[in-house]
Amino acid sequence: MDTNLKYVEIKTALRKNSLPNHFLGKYSFSPYRACEHACKYCDGRAEKYYVDGNFEKDIVIRKNLLSVLANDLRKIREKGYVTIGSGVSDAYQPIEEKTFLMQNCAKILNNFNLNLNFNLNRDNDHHHSVINRYNLNLSVKVITKSKLIMRDIDYWEKIHKKSAFLLCMSIVFADDNLRQIFEPKASSIDERFKTLQEFKARGMYVGILMMPLIPLIGDSDDNITKIIERAKKIGVDFILPSTTTLREGIQKDSFLQLIKNNFNNHYKDMLYLYSNNAKSGNPILSYRENFYARLKKIFSNTKINTVVPHYTYKNCYPLYDELFLLLNDMECFYESRDVNTKPLKYSISRYEEWLLEEKSKFNRKRNLNYRYLEDLFLENISNHNMDEIIKNEKLMKLIKRVVLDRETITLL
Ligand code: SF4
Repeated sequence: MDTNLKYVEIKTALRKNSLPNHFLGKYSFSPYRACEHACKYCDGRAEKYYVDGNFEKDIVIRKNLLSVLANDLRKIREKGYVTIGSGVSDAYQPIEEKTFLMQNCAKILNNFNLNLNFNLNRDNDHHHSVINRYNLNLSVKVITKSKLIMRDIDYWEKIHKKSAFLLCMSIVFADDNLRQIFEPKASSIDERFKTLQEFKARGMYVGILMMPLIPLIGDSDDNITKIIERAKKIGVDFILPSTTTLREGIQKDSFLQLIKNNFNNHYKDMLYLYSNNAKSGNPILSYRENFYARLKKIFSNTKINTVVPHYTYKNCYPLYDELFLLLNDMECFYESRDVNTKPLKYSISRYEEWLLEEKSKFNRKRNLNYRYLEDLFLENISNHNMDEIIKNEKLMKLIKRVVLDRETITLL
C-alpha cells in the first residue's frame, strides 16, 4: 500500500511550554503527523494521540507550516530550545525528501536569529552584559531516526554557531537485523552513527536516545554495551536510556502481534511483563527495578552523561529557566545514584511554584520581554528572597555559582 498524503491547514505551529523540559524544549513543533518510519513500538499509535487512519501510511502534512511558524516566531518573548519532532512523527521521514519543509524551517529559524530586535537604550552603560542577556537567538533540537537530516547540515550548523544545535538520534539496536524488524523504514544503524559523527565533527551537540529498549530482545547487556562503545568512539554528548512503554489498545496489540509472529519464544514472557496494564504503559515494577539496576552498572565507568549536560543548554534559556532545567537534571542524576533527593525535590517544587506565579504575571504583560523576569529573578537572589524559596543553604550556594558566576555544572 502506498503512502496517502493528507494536507491540512494549521492555525498555530509552535507549542510553548511554560516550564521547559529536555524533550520538548521551550517551544516545539512538527511538520507532519503519523510516521512512515513505521517503528513497531511507536507510542504514536496509541489512541491517546488521536492519529487517525493507518499510522504508517496516512501521513498528514501541515501545508501552511512555514507562514504560520514565521508568524508564531514573531511573538516569542523568551529565548530557549525549539524542539522539532514529536512522539507521533519524525520530521525527517521519507516524505521530507520531496517537501523540503524542514529545510525551509531551518531557513526561517536562521532568519529569526538575525532579525530579532529589542530596544537596548535603557542599558547602554552596561553594554556587554546587556548584549549577552539580550542574545535572543533560538537554539534548535531535532529528534530523528533519519540520515536525511544530513541534507540540511549547513543550515543547522549556522544556527549552532549563533546559539546551539542538538541532534538527538534514537538508537536502540546495535544490530541491523533487529532494526529491520522493529524500525523497517528508518535509516540503518550505521547510517545513524555516521550522521551523528558528521554533526559532531562540525562541532554541534549530539545525543543518543536509547529508548525504547525492548524487554527480552533489545535490553541485553551485550546490545546496550555495543551501542555505548560506538557512541563513545564518536564522543556523543549524552545517552538517555529508557524502557519500552506499551499503552493498552492499538499500540500494545500490534506490538504483541509482532512479537508473536517473530519472537514466539518471548511472547508469553512479554505478555507477563505488560500484564499490569499500567496507564503509563510501563512494564511491571520488578522488571523495571532490575532493568534500571543493570543500566546503572553498565553505564558506571563509561564516563558518558546519562542526563543532558548543562553545557548543551547553558545561555540558551533565560537564567530562571536554565536553573529550572539544571535542578531537575540534578534530581534525576542523584536519584540514579541512590542519593536521597527529598530535600532537593522540596526546593525544586518551591522554586517551581515561585517561577510559575511570576511567569503568569509576566504572560499578562505583553509589552515585556524576558529580561524583565530575569531581572526580577536576579533581584530575588541578591536580596536573599531566593534563600527563603530554596530553603537549602548548600543548594543556594550552588545556585549562586551557576547564576552569578556562570559556572557550568557537570553531573557525571
Ligand atoms: S521514527 Fe519516531 S515517530 Fe516515527 S514511527 Fe519511529 S518512533 Fe514513531
